[in-house]
Amino acid sequence: MIAIIRNLKKTLCYLLVFTFLFGANACISYSNKTTSASSPLPRFSVVIDAGHGGIDSGCVGASGIYERDINLSISQKLGNLLQTLGIKVTYTRTNEDGLYGIFASGFKMRDMKAREEIIKKANPNLVVSIHLNSFTDKSARGAQVFYALNSDISKELGEELQEMFVEQIEGSRKSCMPGDFYILNCSKSAGILVECGFLSNPEEEAKLITNEYQERIAYTIMCGIVEYFGLSQ
Ligand SMILES: [Zn+2]
Repeated sequence: MIAIIRNLKKTLCYLLVFTFLFGANACISYSNKTTSASSPLPRFSVVIDAGHGGIDSGCVGASGIYERDINLSISQKLGNLLQTLGIKVTYTRTNEDGLYGIFASGFKMRDMKAREEIIKKANPNLVVSIHLNSFTDKSARGAQVFYALNSDISKELGEELQEMFVEQIEGSRKSCMPGDFYILNCSKSAGILVECGFLSNPEEEAKLITNEYQERIAYTIMCGIVEYFGLSQ
């Protein structure tokens, strides 16, 4: 009897692992319609930009948590997932500091220029900038993707990823938007900026500070990138 129960437990465990792997595989084995960016995995590279840093904390949640810290955490989770797939990842920052050097007048532009340098040196296929949103109306919520202006690839990826957010993360906003951001305009690489949720919404903030929710967001972004660029081909 004990042996039967043990075997049942084992089978259940295998089923769970299989379900997880099948789910992940279903996500990354989707055949893509684009032909312009079907590079084999090792040749595909992404710059992940964790927004803000240092004195520039970004928005602040009701709990006192800084946007810059959650951005960094999601960025690293996304980077780890992409690297597992053999994608080359370059980060603009890997700690809480900004890239402006000494804090003085003009620090924000120096910070952005430093990020631009990293992107230009890496010459990636894609730039992904990670941010959180904030609004005076505390009921505003949901992840939203912004894409680089005048870039068809960025727009199509933005649409694909926004759909994925709607499917995978409850409360996500329905549509993506073009975004006139320095970080997306400073190179010719395809680029998206993901506002992963509203830190000004207490309910969303409570989720955004958890590892589990950050992992879900990172996984969703990874799926969007892999699907759109056909990286499993
Ligand atoms: Zn931000």
